Amino acid sequence: MLRCKDVAKALADKNIRDMSFFERFSLVVHVMLCPFCGKFHKDVVKHQEMARCFHDHEEPNDEKMDDDAKKKLREALSKECK
Ligand SMILES: [Zn+2]
Repeated sequence: MLRCKDVAKALADKNIRDMSFFERFSLVVHVMLCPFCGKFHKDVVKHQEMARCFHDHEEPNDEKMDDDAKKKLREALSKECK
């Protein structure tokens, strides 16, 4: 039987299609029965859909930051990190 920790790691890191039949079966049964992993699975799917949507609608941006803007950004970041 899979533990919640194992399910979370598998959902986040692995592609379900690369798993063996037994691994997939165990994962699906656990996700169906465990309320925590069920919620986590829904969140993972939602984030994957959002990332796919963002990727599909992302516009190419060839603009470069000028040196003055880089300097101001560097100064602002160094103040924040102190
Ligand atoms: Zn669980």
